[in-house]
Amino acid sequence: MTKGEQLYEGKAKKVFATDDPELLLVSYKDDATAFNGLKKGTIEGKGSINNQMSNALMRYLSERGIPTHFVKEINERETIVKKVTIVPLEVIVRNIAAGSFAKNYGVEEGTPLSNPTIEFSYKNDALGDPLMNEYHATALGLATEKEIQTIKDYSFQINKELQSFWAACKVTLVDFKLEFGRLSDGTIILADEISPDTCRLWDAESGEKLDKDRFRRDLGNVEEAYQEIMKRLQQHI
Ligand code: ADP
Ligand code: UDP
Repeated sequence: MTKGEQLYEGKAKKVFATDDPELLLVSYKDDATAFNGLKKGTIEGKGSINNQMSNALMRYLSERGIPTHFVKEINERETIVKKVTIVPLEVIVRNIAAGSFAKNYGVEEGTPLSNPTIEFSYKNDALGDPLMNEYHATALGLATEKEIQTIKDYSFQINKELQSFWAACKVTLVDFKLEFGRLSDGTIILADEISPDTCRLWDAESGEKLDKDRFRRDLGNVEEAYQEIMKRLQQHI
């Protein structure tokens, strides 16, 4: 597999063409951003941890019936994935109130939710990723009703699988963001990444944050938290 031209550089990853038109090469960076790019920094070793963690979790999910874009890990930071057209919706699943949910609804962070919730935001940096409901998404032609149903079904199934995986690592899965895409035949699959950048992961006993909130909120020991969560994953995968 040869690495072709760079097609895109995002905030956390670079995307390259390959000699197969159906495949892309994704390269994970150590760059970290928060608050829609307003806060910028570097988390040493993050690219390699996020790449390997995302691949391990996508493999775990595909063994449990979730179709994903993962094809092959090339090296510490780089992975071959199936090329999709991304559905421009950030899909957020929550088990415990935190972040914008806690703020918007005046709930103390850490309050368990009676049922898992799902919400969508429109993946559009210029607009600041605004919240969007299903009617808005279909009205704008971002996804069909059937695609949204598939995305919801997969997302709740992924939540169950990841909750039980992280519980074995003594980690609480608080919330996370997913992205889905369409293969050329229209099949919906899980894409992008699942990592401490896109999930809130708390130590099950102490509640210590082992995710990107350490960077967002200047809590210190950012690199150490990424290393710790990776170590726990490796002990249980
Ligand atoms: P952002 O664009 O939000 O800054 P990244 O730095 O993570 O994010 O860039 C990776 C980009 O690649 C994102 O826009 C993501 O939607 C897209 N992407 C992820 N997986 C795939 C895939 N399998 N096929 C095509 N695009 C993908
Ligand atoms: N999230 C993400 N990318 C985003 C926004 C959110 O990966 O652009 C993840 C975030 O890491 C958390 C979950 O989605 O695990 C819910 O985030 P929330 O809406 O609470 O936003 P925040 O508090 O980060 O603004």
